[in-house]
Amino acid sequence: MNPLEILSLAQYSFSGLSLATVYRAVKELVEEKWLITVEVPGLSLYYEINRHKHHHHFYCYACSKVFEVDGCVSVEGLTPKDFLLESHEILLSGKCSGCMPR
Ligand SMILES: [Zn+2]
Ligand SMILES: [Zn+2]
Repeated sequence: MNPLEILSLAQYSFSGLSLATVYRAVKELVEEKWLITVEVPGLSLYYEINRHKHHHHFYCYACSKVFEVDGCVSVEGLTPKDFLLESHEILLSGKCSGCMPR
């Protein structure tokens, strides 16, 4: 979710909520590690609930939605010799099922 989506969801429960309030709340939740930021190239900041579980994302070009993808692939083989691999980012992209022609 991005802050605008959070705002539109939260407005169901809290009328009169402003985007500035949402940004402030989101910032606090990130500091408390309840939310994590997800970086998607070409997309504004995206947040999701921290599940403390390693996973990746699928970005749909058609609807600009980001989906969480469980599991991972082995990337050890890509690491140059004598390099220490500490983390990695993988972003899958394409079209989600909702954007595929039926
Ligand atoms: Zn889509
Ligand atoms: Zn991974």
